[in-house]
Amino acid sequence: MKLVFLGPPGAGKGTIASQAKTAYSIPHISTGDLFRDNIRRETELGQKVKAILAAGDLVPDEVTIAMVDNRLKEADAAAGFILDGFPRTIAQADALARMTELDKVVNFVLDKETVVRRLSGRRVCKSTGRTYHILYNPPKVEGIDDETGEPLIQRDDDREESVRNRLEVYEASTAPLIDYYRSRGLLVDVDASGSPEEVFEQLKKAISG
Ligand code: ADP
Ligand code: ADP
Repeated sequence: MKLVFLGPPGAGKGTIASQAKTAYSIPHISTGDLFRDNIRRETELGQKVKAILAAGDLVPDEVTIAMVDNRLKEADAAAGFILDGFPRTIAQADALARMTELDKVVNFVLDKETVVRRLSGRRVCKSTGRTYHILYNPPKVEGIDDETGEPLIQRDDDREESVRNRLEVYEASTAPLIDYYRSRGLLVDVDASGSPEEVFEQLKKAISG
């Protein structure tokens, strides 16, 4: 199963992907996670993209496309994958079409107010990338990762300034992909406003059809 998860930042794509990857035995490939991992390890790529991520702008297409192309060539992605956060531009979508054939593109539909609420309460474990929400999915002990015991942090780009910019970038560059994939018969809409369990049930229905 080759899937793309599309939708605004904070819609719950990563949360649902971490359930779906187990259910469908396919890797969850998040371009945001790949960039953050490079930043943490201070690689050349990480140094190149650090300020871009902090501002909530898009990393240039050629850099992002090359990274995804390499990742999709790894053995675990041969039979299927969930691409989360890629493509984000028409040029990326065209490049992806040259790399592989998708089964479905899942569009996570959520109003802007809820998106902002989800983003502003998001907390993550820096080393594992595990995601929590201070109200909707709190850790067992406040501010501490359930499994590693490490402190949770707020992503730099989940602060107000950057969130506003990311939502504008989404509208301008990424939202046009909804029509792009709808016109190719690949798009399925999922109402992302319910609980993670409800959203996951909808996802299963949407991709089995
Ligand atoms: P969110 O989970 O909030 O949707 P991501 O983790 O997907 O955010 O992405 C974080 C940041 O990484 C983006 O704001 C952008 O700077 C960069 N990024 C991730 N994916 C892409 C992409 N496909 N093209 C360009 N930049 C990207
Ligand atoms: P995305 O990957 O689309 O940026 P995330 O999966 O990181 O989104 O979710 C954003 C925030 O919203 C996180 O804090 C997460 O815990 C929370 N969240 C995700 N799905 C739901 C949901 N269905 N209901 C309430 N909160 C959610």
